Amino acid sequence: MSVQVFIGLGSNLGLPAVQLRQALQAMAQLPHTQLLKTSSLYSSAPLGPADQPRYTNAVALLETALEPLQLLDALQAIEQDHGRVRTGERWGPRTLDLDILLFGNEVIAHERLQVPHYQMHLRPFVLYPLAELAAASLLLPDGRALIDILMHCPQDSSLHRLSP
Ligand code: ATP
Ligand code: CA
Ligand code: CA
Ligand code: CA
Repeated sequence: MSVQVFIGLGSNLGLPAVQLRQALQAMAQLPHTQLLKTSSLYSSAPLGPADQPRYTNAVALLETALEPLQLLDALQAIEQDHGRVRTGERWGPRTLDLDILLFGNEVIAHERLQVPHYQMHLRPFVLYPLAELAAASLLLPDGRALIDILMHCPQDSSLHRLSP
């Protein structure tokens, strides 16, 4: 059985738009997985340490028959292939970050994986690209509609859409 999965992509090192394009290709090539849709690219100010470049962000919609932890392993392998170095600094700069935002309608509370992503409702750089791919009427597992979350999320005047 396949489920639809939304992935949040981010990069702020090493030609971010190239990193994101290559990550999309790598996700399309995962076993038992199809890449269904890709959002525009967005530019956002960094979370956490401010002494780092702006981020480029996007969201992708996959359909996969992988189990959630298999998908997480595969995404972390793609991050490693893209030279991501885990320094231990929270929200520090990175060549590639791939977060599972939604996994069908599942709620997952595992030490390695929390779904829905614990901060997606607070992050305009996630919600705006997500809204390009999902109907505004999309319901999250807790019953809240995406449009409702979007209307209540913090304003972010630093967020810009880069490309259609
Ligand atoms: P944030 O999670 O606030 O966006 P981050 O993406 O910088 O921060 P990472 O260092 O990339 O955090 O990930 C830390 C750990 O988060 C990963 O090792 C992974 O096991 C865990 N994790 C928990 N939930 C998720 C999820 N929904 N998607 C991806 N990783 C997750
Ligand atoms: Ca494929
Ligand atoms: Ca992240
Ligand atoms: Ca991450």
